[in-house]
Amino acid sequence: MTTRFAPSPTGLLHLGHAYSAQVAYERARESSGEFLLRFEDIDHTRVREEYYGQIEEDLRWLGIDWSGVPWRQLDRLPHYQAALEKLKSLGMVYPCFCTRKEINSISNAPQGPEGPLYPGTCRMLSAGDILEASKTTEPAWRLDSRKGATALSFVDRIHGRIAVAPTLLGDVILARKDIGTSYHLAVVVDDAAQEIDLITRGEDLLSSTHVHRILQDLLGYPEPEYEHHRLIGNASGERLAKRDDAASIKGMRDAGMTPSEVLKSL
Ligand code: GLU
Repeated sequence: MTTRFAPSPTGLLHLGHAYSAQVAYERARESSGEFLLRFEDIDHTRVREEYYGQIEEDLRWLGIDWSGVPWRQLDRLPHYQAALEKLKSLGMVYPCFCTRKEINSISNAPQGPEGPLYPGTCRMLSAGDILEASKTTEPAWRLDSRKGATALSFVDRIHGRIAVAPTLLGDVILARKDIGTSYHLAVVVDDAAQEIDLITRGEDLLSSTHVHRILQDLLGYPEPEYEHHRLIGNASGERLAKRDDAASIKGMRDAGMTPSEVLKSL
């Protein structure tokens, strides 16, 4: 069995990440499998070079070791481009020229589990409109979620079998204008390329898995198993944020805690 931990090098590793990494590492060890580390660094304006090394150092300090050289998503953009081309050829994506400001000003947008959904404005564009808009603007590409297969499901070790609701997150962006991919597309391409059998991550990403199963199906990738684990809160029970420096592994180490004390607090 192969598992992975996929942090973004946009901040220090905190307790929530440590728990995610530990779950993935344990699942690989239980099955004498492999544990991989992958940096989700497509949020390039927020990435800082020093965080790659700091995350590796924190994981090693916790006793979590990975196989091979960690992948960086910024090295893999052509692979995401190829997947996007396939989705275009299947007619499953459409170009979107809306600005963030335009989208935010839509007052009657449908609500999803994570806030307002994109109402599909650019889905209606004609070929002529698209040609005209492309002259001045690079589009983002969105999943045409209404065309997603309805008979899909996924198996989660904690939550059981879950039927995919294709429109749960609406027409999500699969390729941003600035980088040509998105979290959803990159993670699906990489999990398949690294032959990840069990995807472990926080339960806040459960709704994203609906999108990921659709993409796996369209791109002809195997179906992995999932474990969406509980989230670790801070002392007052709130969800940890990157800015919660007190909960950073580095902060705890600097305060004199041992790795086993940190892991015990999870
Ligand atoms: N980069 C995501 C995070 O740090 C993990 C995404 C995933 O595991 O699919 O929460």
